[in-house]
Amino acid sequence: MPSDVTEADREATAALILKLRSKGIGSQKVLSALERVPRRLFLSAPLQRHAYEDSALPIECGQTISQPTIVAMMTEALDVAPEHRVLEIGTGSGYQAAILGHLSRDVRTIERYKTLADLARARLSTLKIDTVHVHHGDGTEGLAEKAPFDRIIVTAATPELPQALIDQLADGGKLVAPRGPAGDVQSLVVIERKGATTVSRDLAQVRFVPLVEGVANRL
Ligand code: SAH
Repeated sequence: MPSDVTEADREATAALILKLRSKGIGSQKVLSALERVPRRLFLSAPLQRHAYEDSALPIECGQTISQPTIVAMMTEALDVAPEHRVLEIGTGSGYQAAILGHLSRDVRTIERYKTLADLARARLSTLKIDTVHVHHGDGTEGLAEKAPFDRIIVTAATPELPQALIDQLADGGKLVAPRGPAGDVQSLVVIERKGATTVSRDLAQVRFVPLVEGVANRL
């Protein structure tokens, strides 16, 4: 419930936003979107007291919610406008999706664990974010029925980006993803599609959980 959002959440979020600004996140649009999402609501009870620290934290199904600095950096690099059709691969807690939902009117996010997809859906509904649709499925296939996308963000690491995602990127579109081996340092890359070619640049070194093919067997 939005009534769950306390004054303490608001204060801690404001402090986190200041920290992100000091770390070089300059886009006011991105900082405002982050400011509207109380990160605590995306965590299980025992971890909520760490919600406003600038660190990655464990979530259900052995996955992780990304570090706020990385979320902000990826969101800034994605450069989202309200009319953009946005696709996220790796819903996880739903935190990144909630932020994207304040920047675009049309966000799709795909998660391979049903438990995570259901939890994220409930959290987004609690926060009355109706611009995001959560899909339970295999994100390596993208979402052909809603393609092309102006913006694609992948929040799980892969040595090789799935071709389906490149194919579903609109001309002039941007894709942000951690590229590299599982369990090691990866490069955060920004890929821009220009006609039949793509241009890619490296943003930062990161560590993400792996992108795994197929829908998860267990919940
Ligand atoms: N963006 C998330 C963090 C995601 S962690 C957040 O804001 O909390 C990466 C997520 O990608 C995990 O939940 C993992 O289950 C999911 N994932 C990995 N491979 C996937 C695939 N093929 N399709 C969909 N989701 C996948």
